[in-house]
Amino acid sequence: QIAIRIDGLSKTYEGGKRALDNVSLSVPRGMIYGLLGPNGAGKSTLINILSGMVRKSGGRASIWGFDIDEHPRNAKASIGIVPQEIVFDPFFTPLETLEIVAGLYGVPKGKRRSMELLRAVGLEDKANAYARTLSGGMKRRLLVAKAMVHSPPIIVLDEPTAGVDIELRQQLWDYVRLLNRQGVTVVLTTHYLEEAEELCDRIAIINHGKVITDQPTRELVGMA
Ligand code: ADP
Ligand code: ADP
Repeated sequence: QIAIRIDGLSKTYEGGKRALDNVSLSVPRGMIYGLLGPNGAGKSTLINILSGMVRKSGGRASIWGFDIDEHPRNAKASIGIVPQEIVFDPFFTPLETLEIVAGLYGVPKGKRRSMELLRAVGLEDKANAYARTLSGGMKRRLLVAKAMVHSPPIIVLDEPTAGVDIELRQQLWDYVRLLNRQGVTVVLTTHYLEEAEELCDRIAIINHGKVITDQPTRELVGMA
């Protein structure tokens, strides 16, 4: 049972930068899977191809069994993406932000679902505050809630703890673990080995657009 299958994926940006070079990976269902690599390795490019934000140059990818070219809408509906950059309209409240997304996905009882999610990420008190008044950490939690509105079976977090303090990092990790216990497959990118080790069942290391290794965390750590 494969959550995400990537086969010979390549990306060359305009200008000639080869960000991904024949990458193949499988993320088994039910896992917390880490994509570890230094800045510029190609992690965001990979995530952006899965989310449909970047067009691949070659190869194939499928999400929850849906090919991203042949069934893009089903593929997209199967995944919740937490982007690295903080992106939402600063003049909407967290509750409004989630309700808009719920509306886009046709989620029934959008308001109730949105409140549930705000509670889950500890933003209940901020439900009706303007999003621009939230701290960086609160915004990041709102992004996680936003990715989960349509209850996707997979959530992908791109560098979730970049620029986040230790306390908040712990909160985010706890929430990621909780989602995983509830059956959500988790993929996260990071350039912190400790983060990957602590959270992930399996780690792929990517560098210069190539997969260097892809194995259970236990084996990887045992090697070091
Ligand atoms: P990571 O997320 O691992 O830091 P990225 O996927 O962001 O890596 O970047 C991989 C490489 O592709 C880097 O050399 C980066 O500068 C380059 N790159 C990323 N986005 C673009 C783009 N839009 N145009 C040109 N080059 C890009
Ligand atoms: P990351 O932390 O993943 O490496 P960056 O901070 O390098 O991301 O890049 C942020 C944004 O800039 C991304 O949208 C990426 O696609 C874009 N980008 C990165 N490198 C380049 C590049 N060389 N040319 C154009 N856009 C780039």
